[in-house]
Amino acid sequence: MATPMKARDTFPKLKMYIDGEFVDSASGDWFESFDPYTAKPWCLIARGNAEDADRAVKAADRAFTSGPWPALNASQRGALLRRLGDLVAENAERLGELEVKDNGKLLSEMAAQLRYAPSFYHYFAGLADKIEGAVIPNDKAAFTYTLHEPLGVCAAIIPWNSPLLLTAWKLAPALAAGNTVVVKPSEYTSASTLEFVKLIEQAGFPKGVVNVVTGFGPEAGQPLIEHPLVRKVAFTGSDRTGAHIYSEAARDIKRVSLELGGKSPNIVFADANMDNAVKGAVSGIFAATGQTCVAGSRLLVQRSVHDEFVERLVDFARTARMGNPMELDTQVGPVTNLPQYKKVLGYIDVAKGEGAQTVLGGGKAQRPECGDGWFVEPTIFTGVRNDMRIAQEEVFGPVLSVIPFTDDDEAVAIGNDVVFGLAAGVWTENIRRAFTMARRLQAGTVWVNTYRALSYTTPFGGYKRSGLGRELGQEAIREYLQTKSVWISTAEEVANPFVVG
Ligand code: ADP
Repeated sequence: MATPMKARDTFPKLKMYIDGEFVDSASGDWFESFDPYTAKPWCLIARGNAEDADRAVKAADRAFTSGPWPALNASQRGALLRRLGDLVAENAERLGELEVKDNGKLLSEMAAQLRYAPSFYHYFAGLADKIEGAVIPNDKAAFTYTLHEPLGVCAAIIPWNSPLLLTAWKLAPALAAGNTVVVKPSEYTSASTLEFVKLIEQAGFPKGVVNVVTGFGPEAGQPLIEHPLVRKVAFTGSDRTGAHIYSEAARDIKRVSLELGGKSPNIVFADANMDNAVKGAVSGIFAATGQTCVAGSRLLVQRSVHDEFVERLVDFARTARMGNPMELDTQVGPVTNLPQYKKVLGYIDVAKGEGAQTVLGGGKAQRPECGDGWFVEPTIFTGVRNDMRIAQEEVFGPVLSVIPFTDDDEAVAIGNDVVFGLAAGVWTENIRRAFTMARRLQAGTVWVNTYRALSYTTPFGGYKRSGLGRELGQEAIREYLQTKSVWISTAEEVANPFVVG
C-alpha cells in the first residue's frame, strides 16, 4: 500500500553524492526505503537515472585525469585511506545502526562488521605504496620496465546484505591503486552509504574521487555499466545480474570482477567434533538470516551420524531468539526486503513439493516478537536429494537442506555437483582428510573446522558460476591495475626501420 503523501513528507530525504556535493536526482524523484523489522518505510532516497549516472561518471573521470588526485603519490593515497579507516572506526556503531534500519540484520553483527571494516582500509592503505613494477631483462638493446597503473573510473555495484563491508572491499583497493569510483548501493540499503560518504569528505579525498548514485538497478545501475568512461565494474550480487553485467561490459571491453551467489556444501564427517560442527552448521545458515553469499545451505552429513547430528542441530537451532534486530540478544532477524521474503517462502514450498521433510520451521514466523516484520522461521529440511531445486538454487534465507553421504568420494561428488563454487566447509578431526578435501572441493574458499571466517589478508571469490576475480588480500589490488611496459632504447642508432625485431 502506498504511503500517504503527508506521512512521506516527514521522512528524512537522503540525497546522492556527486562531485563533492549532496544533490537531488535529475528527475527530482524519491523512493522509499523500508525497515524490514516493521515492514514500513522510514526514509526517502533520491531516485537516480541515466542523467545522474552520467554526471557522476564525468565527475569521477575529471577527478581521475586532472586536479589533485592524479598528482598524489602512492604514500599520500595511503595516508588518505588510513584516515578514512580511522573515521569508519570512530563511526562504526552509528553506521551499523543505519544498516540495521535498512537491512534488518542484527546490530550485533553489523556493528562488528563496521568495527572490522577499518582494517580493510588500513590494509589497502599499506599496499598503496607497494605496487611495484619490475625491470625486465631484455634480449634487445633496451631498458624495459613495467608500471602498474590505475584503470580509471570504476563502478562499484553493491548488494543489500552487507552494504558498507562490501563497499570497503571494492573502494579500498580501487583507491589504493589510484582509480576513482562511482558507488551504486542497493535500492534496499542506501542510507548507510550516504552517511559513510561524509567520512570520505572528512578524510580529505578530493571531490569527484568517490561518488554515490542511488536508485534502482535498471534505472541507475544500468547506465553506469553502459557508460563508455567506466573502465571497470566491480559487482557483488545475484548470478543473474552478474551474468548480465558481464555481457554488457563485453561491449566496451570493460574489466569486471564479479562476486556472485553460492550453494555451498558444509560437510560433516563422522569423525568431527560434533559440538563445533553443530555451531558451524548454524553459523553457516542461520546467522545473518541466511542472507550471505557464503551460506552453507547444503549440509552434507555422513550417514553413520546423520540422525544424531540432525537431532542436535534441530535442538540447537530451535532455541534461536528471533525479534528486533536492534536488540543485542536477538539471534535471527527478518529477511531484508519483501521480494526476498516472498522468494524464501516460495522456496520452502518448492522443497515441500519436492518431498523434503520439514524437521524445523517451514514458513513465516508468527511469533509476537516478530510483529509485522518479514520473518521466516529457521527451517531445516531432511531427505533432500542433490538434484532437487532446493539443493541446486540459491535461496538466500534461513533454509537448510540436509543431504546424507557415505564416504569421502561421495561427499566430494555431491559437494561439487552444483553450478556454484563460492565456499565449502569441512568438519573432521582427521588431518589427511582435511587437506584432501580442501584440494578436491571446487570452491574459492574452503573452511576446515570453521565457517564464515574472512580476513582482509586472504583472497575471496568464486569458482564456476560464483564469480570472476578475487577481492581481499594482495590479489585484490591487481583487479584495479593494468600493466604498462616501457622500452627505453640503449642503442646508438635506430636499426633498419622496415624490419621489426
Ligand atoms: P537483488 O535482486 O537481490 O537485489 P541484484 O544482484 O539484482 O540482487 O542486485 C545487486 C545490485 O545490482 C543492486 O545494487 C542492484 O540495484 C544492482 N543492479 C540490478 N540490476 C542492475 C543492472 N541492470 N545494472 C546495474 N546494476 C544493477
